[in-house]
Amino acid sequence: MPAVKADAYGHGAALVAEELNAMGIGDFCVATVREGVELRRGGIRGTILILGYTHPSQWGELLQWDLTQTVLDYDYAQSLSAWGRPVRVHIGIDTGMHRLGERCENLGRILKLFQAPNLIVEGIFTHLCVSDEETREAALYTKAQGKAFWDVVEGLKGKGVPIPHAHILNSGGLMLTPELGGDYARIGIALYGLSSARGNGRLAEMELRPVLSLKARVASVRRLQQGERAGYGLAFSATRETTLAALSIGYGDGLPRSLSQGVGHALIHGRKVPIAGRVCMDQTLVDVTGAGRVRPGDEAVLIGRSGGEEITAYDLAEESGTISNEILCRLGARLERTAI
Ligand SMILES: *Cc1c(COP(=O)(O)O)cnc(C)c1O
Repeated sequence: MPAVKADAYGHGAALVAEELNAMGIGDFCVATVREGVELRRGGIRGTILILGYTHPSQWGELLQWDLTQTVLDYDYAQSLSAWGRPVRVHIGIDTGMHRLGERCENLGRILKLFQAPNLIVEGIFTHLCVSDEETREAALYTKAQGKAFWDVVEGLKGKGVPIPHAHILNSGGLMLTPELGGDYARIGIALYGLSSARGNGRLAEMELRPVLSLKARVASVRRLQQGERAGYGLAFSATRETTLAALSIGYGDGLPRSLSQGVGHALIHGRKVPIAGRVCMDQTLVDVTGAGRVRPGDEAVLIGRSGGEEITAYDLAEESGTISNEILCRLGARLERTAI
């Protein structure tokens, strides 16, 4: 059950879902009703699980578009059932993340959810919160979450409840603790060929291959004399004769502004060139002095390979103090997305 929320982590949900659908994958999870509707409009016919909160004003859309709602906790389930119309649901179980889901300790309440008159319970799941961390402590926590979840399932079985699809694994879980099992795996970041952060142990050995490249065009090239300055706030200062290229991409496209002033780089003709001055909304200057002849229309790579060089989403994440997930899912709506 691929996680294609946040526009498939920036890759384009319609594009990604269509590709996966053609490969025989029918069921998907997203965060919001709006994202679910987009998939239905794109022709997805299988289960679409909404992982997040749906306000009562949108419950009608759950029915209209045949979406499956996560039961976020006992009270949410009661209100949803009291609404009076049958809704497909998966029951979220909180086994230690303490974000969403009914607490695993409350078996009696969980049992009642299966008896709620208007909930069509088709699944039960939990979410792992340290499954991609490679410390012993994290591994123990993940194992305990798995045990707590399967104990709930066993407890329900013991009460004669027919168990619907049970699922637990996210990317970290699939890669490091696949033995936790389940009928679905809700895979997000790994589907796109990455972990949340550059791994050092087993994750680094997984040989994931990022599927996304981020490219822009060179819009204009100019020479600056030593001492001239450039960009907003005149933050770039030419300490020598300098050639600057303006790239047609900026923070409006999701390129973090914190990559300004040489923190981040682009690849042009297989050479790594530093960002010069401040990243703008629609443009970014790079210092191409000594990088050979650069012309308007040339390709610049912000994420991906050029020649023997590579910039990864991990690089951008580390340079801007976040994780690869955030870099990817902030990629802007106006970027053209092409599947190759
Ligand atoms: C986002 C999300 C996933 C996917 O997580 P990844 O770590 O990207 O694989 C799975 N389950 C839930 C509940 C999520 O919110």
